[in-house]
Formats: sequence, structure tokens, C-alpha cells
Amino acid sequence: MSENSGPKLRAELDGIPTYKPGKPAAAGGPVAYKLSSNENPYPPLPGVMEQVTAAAGSFNRYPDMACTGLMNELSDRFGVPLTHLATGTGSVGVAQSLIQATSGPGDEVMYAWRSFEAYPIITQISGATSVKVPLTAGEVHDLDAMAAAITDRTRLIFVCNPNNPTGTVVRRAELERFLDRVPSDVLVVLDEAYREFIRDTEVPDGIEIYRDRPNVCVLRTFSKAYGLAGLRVGFAVAHEPVAAALRKTAVPFGVSQLAQDAAVASLRAEDKLLGRVGSLVTERTRVLETLRGQGWTVPETQANFVWLRLGERTVDFAAACEKAGVVVRPFPGEGVRVTIGEDEANDLFLGAAEAFRKEL
Ligand code: PMP
Repeated sequence: MSENSGPKLRAELDGIPTYKPGKPAAAGGPVAYKLSSNENPYPPLPGVMEQVTAAAGSFNRYPDMACTGLMNELSDRFGVPLTHLATGTGSVGVAQSLIQATSGPGDEVMYAWRSFEAYPIITQISGATSVKVPLTAGEVHDLDAMAAAITDRTRLIFVCNPNNPTGTVVRRAELERFLDRVPSDVLVVLDEAYREFIRDTEVPDGIEIYRDRPNVCVLRTFSKAYGLAGLRVGFAVAHEPVAAALRKTAVPFGVSQLAQDAAVASLRAEDKLLGRVGSLVTERTRVLETLRGQGWTVPETQANFVWLRLGERTVDFAAACEKAGVVVRPFPGEGVRVTIGEDEANDLFLGAAEAFRKEL
């Protein structure tokens, strides 16, 4: 036995970063708003809280593993058969299951870059190889380059729409053209975590796209528009073989009863929740226009965040925002992603952005 012997861990893990959550607002510090994780700034609806409180009374029991109530509600709401649905521990949990179900060592998982930072992590964990296709200069998916990068080892392609962290979108015609070029044995995952924030009518609803395409899977979450980030519940819509594979690869009991009941209550309170989304979209327009008025180049965003490409100034900009009372998400050397939050948080951010701009 060697001196340093301990459990033998997979060597691949050495090269895999640990997922970095958005920085929290400083506890006890000056007013600080968290605009670093694309969360919903509104507190839970009272009716949703009631459901969670009621479910809490029986958390000595395992949850309903089949998520029956939630699955029925989703099936009605989206007009899809129960056999085409699968739930998971946040949509990131579902994304991980999708990789588990399709890809392993020697296989390739493709996505645009930069995009959601969990993609490389969950790909590498599976032993598959990441194929990152750079966004265009306009910060949008380069679907031609992605189609050209498909090999006979490609197993799964993520299309993040809108893309995190740029907020940019893929429109109907270009998506259809791309899907026509993808071999039918490659799974295309339309990650629509921010779907409810889209106002561009040219952006297709993935749930319409998937119906005629057995190799398309749509990912949705309750974490953003529905405000349940802390409860961890997401779902996929896909044809039966994919949905069944997801149910196999999911962590058993991965969606708590609290999460299931809160998700059902949220779907039933959708009018109110989507009204809040409308307010955030109005704020998004204000933030975008104000930034542009200050002289910043900001890509058109259809999500609940904006993206500023700052290159070497990224970390300084994030520090200036924090000093002003808002915590944003820096991607060092690249740019800063800022969630649309409370009006006063957005004001603080805009003030910091203006001051920073003047110093340039
Ligand atoms: N997809 C995208 C594009 C995201 O930005 C996020 C959250 N940052 C997720 C999936 C995962 O969200 P959750 O696991 O909370 O559903």
C-alpha cells in the first residue's frame, strides 16, 4: 500500500472544475443585491408557500418518485403525453441524466461556447469529450459551424436558447435548418431554461419543434420564471425512448415532495407568475436601453440577464458593481453577466456601469 493511499478516484476528475455558484450578496454588509445567478427576485407566492408548508408535514416520507401530480399537470399544460415527460433535480439534473443516457468515453457532446458552465462539467464527468463551438462575433450560436463539427462520435448537442450568459437566441428558420442537418441518431437538447422571458416571436417554442422530431429533447425549469430555484425541479419533454431513458438515469427520489407540490401550485398560479415575468421583461428593456445610451455594446437579450463583454476589465467591473451594492457574475477575461433584479438593484447596477464607463 502506498503512503498516500486513499480511495482511487477517476483520474479524469482532476481536470474537471467544480461548479461555481453565483456569489451571494454579502451578509450584514451594505445593501447588496444578488444579480449573479439569474434568479427571480420576487419572493414565493403565498399560495405556493402554503403548498410547501403542507408538504413539509410529511417529509419523513419519501416523495412520490413518479411525480404523478406534477407529471399530470405538465401533460395538461403543454399538451404532451405522460410518456414524453421526465422530471429531475433541476434542469441541470435532467441535463446530466441526458448525457448519462447517451454518452460515455469516446463519445462527443457538442455545445456553443461560451454557454451554460455546467455543460463542460457534466460532459467530462461522463467521460465523454466536449466539443465547444465558438459563438459568432455577434455572440450567437454558429449553427453552421456546429453542423460542420458533427462526427460519427457526436451523441448529444446542446442548443441553449436563449443562451446563458449572452441572452442571444436562435430563431425558427435557422434552428429548423440546423436540425435538418443533424443525423437522426444524435440527440439535440434545446435548453429553454429562460423560455418564459422570450418576446421575439421568431424564436420557436421547443415543445412545438420536438413533436415531429424524435431526436429533439426540450429542457425546462421551475427555477427562473417560476421562482423555485431553491427547490430544484426541472423537466424534459422528449419522445418516449428518451423520456424513458431519463427516468432510468435520474437519481431516485430526486424531486422532493415540497418541490413537486410547489411546481404544481406554480403552474396553477401561472397568470400571476407570468405577470411578474412581464415586469422583469420591462426592466430588461430599460436596463438594455440605458446601457446602450451609456455607450456600452450589449447584445440583444431574450433572457432575464444582460451580457457585457469586458475582456481584461471584467474583474474590475464586477468589483465596481459590488462596491455599488450589486453582486454580478464575472467570467474573468471575457465578460460580466448581470441578472435583471429588483428595480432598485437595476438602478444601482446602471449607476455603477455609468461611472465605470466614464472612467474608461
Ligand atoms: N440551463 C441553463 C441555460 C441555465 O442557465 C441553468 C441555470 N443557471 C440551468 C439550465 C439549470 O437550472 P436548474 O438546474 O435550476 O433548473
